[in-house]
Amino acid sequence: MTTHKLNGDFSTKCFVCDKKLEKREYKNKVTNLPVCAQCKGTEKEKAKEKEVLDSLADGFVCGCI
Ligand SMILES: [Zn+2]
Repeated sequence: MTTHKLNGDFSTKCFVCDKKLEKREYKNKVTNLPVCAQCKGTEKEKAKEKEVLDSLADGFVCGCI
């Protein structure tokens, strides 16, 4: 049996459903986070995307709103 270990913990999970992904299948362009095939393009993805952006936005103050 071969043990194949990558350096570091490169475990990837879908930012929408938190499912562990074998590999990065897709990436959300807005958040730059990995997303699985099941969640890609769904309303759930959109909602989560907004959630992530909102939490990021806390650090930014934008005068354009
Ligand atoms: Zn997912």
